[in-house]
Amino acid sequence: MNRKRLVYLDHAATTPTAPGVVEAMLPYFSGRFGNPSSIYGIARESRLAVDHAREQVARAINGSPEEVYLTSGGTEADNWAIKGVAFADRKRGDHIITSSIEHHAVLHTCQYLEKQGFRVTYLSVDEFGRVDPADLENAMTDRTVLVSIMAANNEIGTLEPIAACGEICRDHGVRFHTDAVQAIGSVPVDVEALNVDLLSLSAHKFYGPKGVGALYVRKGVRLDNLLHGGAQERHRRAGTENVPGIVGMGVAIERACERREDYARRLTALRDRLYGGITERIEHVRLNGHPTERLPGNLNLSFRFIEGESTLLMLDHAGICASSGSACTSGSLDPSYVLLAIGLPHEIAHGSLRFTLGESNTDDDVDYVLETLPPIVERLRTMSPLYAEYRRSQDVQ
Ligand SMILES: *Cc1c(COP(=O)(O)O)cnc(C)c1O
Repeated sequence: MNRKRLVYLDHAATTPTAPGVVEAMLPYFSGRFGNPSSIYGIARESRLAVDHAREQVARAINGSPEEVYLTSGGTEADNWAIKGVAFADRKRGDHIITSSIEHHAVLHTCQYLEKQGFRVTYLSVDEFGRVDPADLENAMTDRTVLVSIMAANNEIGTLEPIAACGEICRDHGVRFHTDAVQAIGSVPVDVEALNVDLLSLSAHKFYGPKGVGALYVRKGVRLDNLLHGGAQERHRRAGTENVPGIVGMGVAIERACERREDYARRLTALRDRLYGGITERIEHVRLNGHPTERLPGNLNLSFRFIEGESTLLMLDHAGICASSGSACTSGSLDPSYVLLAIGLPHEIAHGSLRFTLGESNTDDDVDYVLETLPPIVERLRTMSPLYAEYRRSQDVQ
């Protein structure tokens, strides 16, 4: 195995910038360095660039530019949406509904609010990771002020029934937030069609730069500020704008939305070939997440009898980047809470790998994984006491 190559299959963790993104950003680091809040010429250039990017984001999600607030990323957008609505509507109620498989940016924010006296219902999901809109309906109380359900799960790729959840929220007069960080550029995202009041997105998940994102806030939604200071973002989000990052996000989101259908079609084909090839070559493999209602590039698999972490290390040695659980929890030995939430026993959750495909991946990459992965799994299984036990139990029969 002397092939020196890198096969990046962790696009749910982050993506490289697309062609044209860095080039568009560069002038705003030096020549066009003006502060958008100042009034002279180079400042106006920055202001116009920020406004243009805001329009690009708005157009991509079918909102209006006045409803787009620029943030430092998906985590800030999630924090702001949830704390912002909870604190602004505190007099109306103290109950929040979310799902048990949200990103930590949502879950930990909700847990923080519980410490502040809010009540949070964490809806369970089915074996495919789907929230049942009927459960949402049943969880609604007259104290509910906010519902937050993600558009697409970052670990297992499951798409949630957002439009149906949004309709229920609208009927109850409850604000509806969706974390659409994984969905943008892969599936259609339209704030009108989905009935959402607030929506989070993050540039580095759609081939833009890291450290920049946006929160869509429907006109009329009351929201406390998260950051206090200057008058930026129409007095709602203080701090001098990350102008280069914002420009990069604008270029990236426009490009991602133009290419979305082709991108999804291409990734779905590659992913299905990867999945087919793996199940042909390796026994005792389980697909996690929904078989069809899933992100085009996501393949989350459990390999029985082995540890995901050891498999990852050996894949890394062969130049293949994948992930087990989510990047935020890797380093800890707890199995993924998302995999436990869809009902996997601990030992099977432990043997899970997430491959997330993206723009640069080719048929060659898939072939390389198909030739590299089976011997790794086989080797780890021959060392696995669980596998030995399984083989003995088969012999007995
Ligand atoms: C990556 C991610 C986030 C966090 O976004 P950052 O910009 O990295 O802070 C939030 N939610 C989901 C679903 C994500 O995949």
